[in-house]
This record gives sequence, structure tokens and C-alpha cells, in this order.
Amino acid sequence: MKTDSANKCVIVIFGATGDLAKRKLFPSIYNLYKKGKLSSNFAVVGAARREWSNDTFRRNVATSIQESKIDVDQDINEFLNHFHYLSFDVTNTESYTNLNDLITNLDEEFSIPENRIFYMAMAPQFFGTIASYLKANGVTNTTGWNRLIIEKPFGHNYESAQKLNDDLREAFTEDEIYRIDHYLGKEMVQNIEVIRFANAIFEPLWNNRYISNIQITSSESLGVEDRGGYYDHAGALRDMVQNHMLQMVALLAMEPPNRLTTEEIRTEKIKALRALRPMTPNEVDSYFVRGQYGRGIVNENTVNGYREEGNVDPKSKTETFVAGKLVIDNFRWAGVPFYIRTGKRMTEKSTKIVIQFKNLPMNLYYKSKEEMHPNLLIIHIQPDEGISIVLNGKKIGLSGETNPVKLDFCSSCQDVVNTPEAYEKLLNDCIIGDATNFTHWDEVALSWSFVDIISKVWENSTPTDFPNYESGSMGPKIADKLLADDGFHWWPITDESDYTI
Ligand code: NAP
Repeated sequence: MKTDSANKCVIVIFGATGDLAKRKLFPSIYNLYKKGKLSSNFAVVGAARREWSNDTFRRNVATSIQESKIDVDQDINEFLNHFHYLSFDVTNTESYTNLNDLITNLDEEFSIPENRIFYMAMAPQFFGTIASYLKANGVTNTTGWNRLIIEKPFGHNYESAQKLNDDLREAFTEDEIYRIDHYLGKEMVQNIEVIRFANAIFEPLWNNRYISNIQITSSESLGVEDRGGYYDHAGALRDMVQNHMLQMVALLAMEPPNRLTTEEIRTEKIKALRALRPMTPNEVDSYFVRGQYGRGIVNENTVNGYREEGNVDPKSKTETFVAGKLVIDNFRWAGVPFYIRTGKRMTEKSTKIVIQFKNLPMNLYYKSKEEMHPNLLIIHIQPDEGISIVLNGKKIGLSGETNPVKLDFCSSCQDVVNTPEAYEKLLNDCIIGDATNFTHWDEVALSWSFVDIISKVWENSTPTDFPNYESGSMGPKIADKLLADDGFHWWPITDESDYTI
């Protein structure tokens, strides 16, 4: 990690008039500024085609900050003075000459040592073009550092991801490329390492002798909203599994790194992803299931099915739900299934990891004349952040029965004001040169290789049962069967007081 004059830089946002910049980037930059994480030696250049003046741009930045839930200082003009706008077409060489001139002036005005961040907040088909034009026009030819932040999706399969990577590598080294997976900026995802490696009560148990299975659920109650055009070509497998879900699997499964450095952590995550057992096309249906939402009731409102959404093919076979069983072929995890599920229009928005421990070999106690409840460690990623542990306690009274007892630690309840947004953390990491929470090309390549096998099988077959789950439900029944066949069931994400087996 570099710490030399690290936070003095020009941040160029390509796509500065777009949704991501408005909802996430400007509020995050403001928060960093307010917290003193940005020195006064910084500037932001907004680039997009619209013919905006600096004033219009600054008004939009101010509005976006005000519309987010941040406390805004009375006078944010000093902050806004760091923002400049450039009307810019990514395919036009002259735009890059103008950009270079503007950045050079800003370097001088704000005493910035030619450090540059290029944030690609635009459609992915432009990423390669922008990178090559930046280099060809000398914008990256500086005495300071250059860093490129890339939004998802990073390709739509292994081949396209490799092509994109090759294009980017023409202009930037691997060390200079920061591939965003905003899940890696979430407080509790980062906390997985701390829970595992800073607690003597967990790490000795973190293996196939004590853990029976791990379940990761990331559910959305929303449908595709206005992203139908993009989503109908992507689907849940590419949109969620290839990146966020596999990143969480890697963090849960990896070996303890030698040190908490970017290289060491990445090395261990890559090793975990390499240990994923690949499937043959014939095996895909035994390990992965897909679903698509139909009509249903969400928050007491009747909502449309996926095929009725805007910009979606009325006969679409795109999956809006995926559940899968991952097998990790290494010494630590042999025999422990990792189950994942993710989908849209499910019961509620929630990301949770449940680690289910094995039962004791002999039950001296029992619960309601049935089995004793297994111990669970639940990591709540969003919207609430925290951990819960389910233990067994004695049922009050004369009987010898046990009752599950849940211990909760809700970190977002304690520290809600200070929990930084994922984008704020990731931007700060990039500014200080810490790439730990960004994905390395090897991780991207391994994830796509794994997912491509599934998507090829699904592309070549037509599901006859779509839509196969109601909006507002927890997905299709076949997702339950995946676990039932192994003698398990999904732990509830909504009413966790219900722990009956
Ligand atoms: P968006 O709202 O459609 O914004 C696209 C931006 O690109 C606009 O500022 C547009 O401005 C600019 N643009 C388009 N063509 C251009 C050209 N030829 N030259 C210069 N500028 C051009 O998209 P978005 O939702 O912000 O998403 C941006 C990226 O982030 C995408 O890769 C998306 O997948 C990713 N992402 C977005 C979100 C999100 O929450 N929005 C979340 C995760 C990932 P003009 O029309 O003024 O040129």
C-alpha cells in the first residue's frame, strides 16, 4: 500500500451526468471530504456528452448530496469549487486533448502531483476505448500515479472479460486497475476476515470437522425496475453469482493469509476459487437451479411478472433467481456444501450468511422430543449489519429439554451514523492505493470460467416452467430440494425466531 502524498489527486468521472455518479459517487466524495480523508489538494472532473457548464455540474453535485441522507454543511461551495465539468465524447480524440489540458491546469491550481484516478461510470462497451484513448493522448503519461476504477459488469463471459482485460492492460498495469465489486466495500463483508481470523472461538472450528454447511442468501424485493434492457441480457447468474456471491464464498473459504496485505489475501482467495469443483455440462442441473418471477404480492401491492416488465422479452428465459451448491475440493472443505441463492422479487431485501455447525455426536439433551437445534453463526451483511449466534440453552422448567437461544450483535444499530457507504470505502481505498477490496483479474477469470459452464447449459435449453416462483416468495421449490436432497433446509432470512427444524 502506498501512502506517499496519496490523497492528492484528480478524480475524472466518465459518465458524470449518469445515475451511478449521482446516487453513489458524489455523496461518497463529499463524505470523504467531510471526514478529512481528502486533502484540499484534490479536484474532480466530470465528463459526459451533455453541454453543461461548471455551474450546472456543481448544482447537480450539490443536489445529489442533498438528496442522499448525508448531513450537509451550510456552506458546501468550498467543496464544490473542486468540481469541474468537461463536455466529452469518449470516441473523439479532441476530447482527450481537452481533458489533458484541464487536468494539467487543475494539477497546478490545487498543487496536485499529477496523481490521477479515472472512474468509468459508463456503459461497459466504452471501457476499452477510453483506456486506449487515455494512453494514446498522453493523459496517463504523468510523473504521479494513475489508477483506473472499473464498474461491473466486467465482461459477460470469460472470453469477453479477457478481451476487455487485454484492452485495459494496453494502457494500465494490473496494479493500476481497480475492479469494483461493491459488496467488497460493505462493512460486514470486510468483517468476515475479522470474525474468522481475530476470534479464537471460530477459527479452530472453521472446517469440515465442525461445519456441516454454509448458506449465502442475497435477496431483493425489487424487480428489474428500469434496468430491464440490461438485465434481460445478463440474468441473476452474471449479475450476482459471478461477482458478489463467489467473492463471499472466497472470503469464507480461503485459508488465513500470511499477512493482511493485498497480495496475500488475493493469493488465498484465488486458491479458494481454484478449489471450486468444476461441473460437466451434464452435472449442472444437479448443482444449480434457476427461476423467474411471476406476478405476486410485494409489500401488499400486486406486482407484475418478469415477462411483463419494461424492455423485457415477453417470452424471456432469463433467470431472475439462481440457487446452487458449490463443492470446494480442498482439505478444509471436503464434504461441506456451500449453498448460494440470489434473486429478485423475493420476500425481502436481505444478504445473510448462515454457518451451520455439525450436531454433537451424542445428544444428551433434546428439544421437544426431536433433535437438538444445531449451532448457527449468522453474518448479517445488509440491510442490517451484525452477527448472531444460535446456541442451545435449557428450557425453563422441570424438563431436560433445550431451547435455541439467539445472541445478537447489531453493529449497524450501534454505529449507524459512522457506517460508511461501500462506495465511500472503495473510493478511499483507491485514493490511498489499497487494492485489497477490489477483484484481481485472476479472480474474475476463475469466476467466469466457473459460471460459463452453467450459462452455456442454460442458454441451450428452454425452461418449460417459467415463471416458476411468485413475486414476494423465497424462490422456486426446486431450490429447497437442492438442500433437502442433502438432508438440510434453508434457514429463514425473515423470521429468525422460527428455528424449528
Ligand atoms: P447511466 O445513468 O446510463 O449513465 C451513463 C453516463 O454515460 C451518462 O453520464 C452519459 O452522459 C454518459 N455517456 C454515454 N455515452 C457517452 C459518450 N459517448 N461519451 C461520453 N459520455 C457518454 O449509467 P449508470 O447507471 O450511471 O451506470 C454506469 C456504469 O456503472 C455502468 O457500467 C453500470 O453497469 C455500472 N453500475 C451502475 C450502478 C447504478 O447504481 N447505477 C450500479 C452498479 C454498476 P451523457 O448522456 O451526458 O453523455
